[in-house]
Amino acid sequence: MTSPRAVIVGASHAGAQLAAGVRQEGWTGEIVLIGDESLLPYQRPPLSKAYLADKCGVDELAIRSADFYAKQRIQLVDATVQSIDRAANHVVMSTGDTLSYDKLALCTGARPRRLSIPGADLAGVHYLRTATDVNMIRGDASPGVRVVIVGGGYIGLETAASLRALGLEVTVLEAAARVLERVTAPEVSAFFDRIHRAEGVTIRTGAAVEALVGDERIREVVLANGESIPADVVIVGIGVEPNTDLASAAGLHIDNGVVIDDQARTSDPDILAAGDCASHDMARYGRRIRLESVPSAGEQAKVAAATICEKPKQITALPWFWSDQYDLKLQIAGLNTGYDEVVLSGDPTRDRDFSCFYLRAGELIAADCIKRPRDFMFSKRTITQHLAVDRTELQLARSA
Ligand code: FAD
Repeated sequence: MTSPRAVIVGASHAGAQLAAGVRQEGWTGEIVLIGDESLLPYQRPPLSKAYLADKCGVDELAIRSADFYAKQRIQLVDATVQSIDRAANHVVMSTGDTLSYDKLALCTGARPRRLSIPGADLAGVHYLRTATDVNMIRGDASPGVRVVIVGGGYIGLETAASLRALGLEVTVLEAAARVLERVTAPEVSAFFDRIHRAEGVTIRTGAAVEALVGDERIREVVLANGESIPADVVIVGIGVEPNTDLASAAGLHIDNGVVIDDQARTSDPDILAAGDCASHDMARYGRRIRLESVPSAGEQAKVAAATICEKPKQITALPWFWSDQYDLKLQIAGLNTGYDEVVLSGDPTRDRDFSCFYLRAGELIAADCIKRPRDFMFSKRTITQHLAVDRTELQLARSA
């Protein structure tokens, strides 16, 4: 009898955790982890933080050592999976080889949304998703270089902070009326706006980019109002799209990501999915959600590993996220969608630490905690357990 084989496509946070988790849950057969970045699975969050700011090398980003995979008998394959044949239970790789599977897990993540405007292909226009992307940005980033960042979300603002640390001139262009508009309350946006301006970043809101102009290399960014902004480098951070092409071509159910149930199973019982590529119904929010965060990639991967090994585990954890900008650690508990009230602890117009609590019908549903780790832990527990909150108590600083 041949030994069963688990094949995992995508070797990043979800894939690496899933491979380790399957072994931990007792899978005795083969585990093959296929990735197309030609690097050991590495941590992505430092790309816009320590790695971009030249504070660590690529080796320090590895999630686990090569030795770990060898000891756990996890075979790493450097290839792109091009298709899935569900009838034959095999995948076809860019190497031309086919690989059969008993269980298949899709951890294909997400890719940056591209700018589709004139000049978007000029040299000096970058995206920031992989270590290779950052190496290219760093190749262009010497002190005094003028960088225009398109997008004032977390990636754009973290990138701005890291490039200021390297001595570059940084302008952030945000099409919305404020930075972080999609994800935070106006008070939190105003706080980050103030901090970045104080660090020397130029922030332009309501700034829609219409064209990138240059001869081969980027020279200026043209806004919808006709204004031109000189630029030696442009970095685009306008969100991501899930990598669902493989799953879609294989006929799996897709809805803003590969649809999974609370045991990480796709519409094919032999195929699971986890991480940025997957979307699932979250009972807490009453809707299908695709999360883009390391903690949820890790949790979904652990659940998928348990499911592969026929152990009961479900995706239940509260979503959480973090962002580092300058000396500020922002920790976010829960999703604030549908909030109807905000309670502040601390003064975001003056302090460098504060918390913004989001309530809906009097219940705490999310919190943005800046340099307030105790507020964050309190919020996670309170939201998870649906505990009642007292507004006056919320206003008290827990970590001052
Ligand atoms: P990914 O990390 O996208 O990995 C998917 C992998 O699959 C990639 O290596 C891809 O090349 C590979 N792949 C895709 N298709 C194929 C194929 N057909 N064959 C082979 N391989 C394939 N999250 C946080 O929680 N906190 C943060 O502070 C934070 N900061 C971030 C900063 C940056 C710059 C970025 C880009 C992301 C950040 N995130 C952060 C988000 C976090 O990194 C992602 O949520 C996480 O990487 C998701 O992991 P994943 O394994 O699902 O997907």
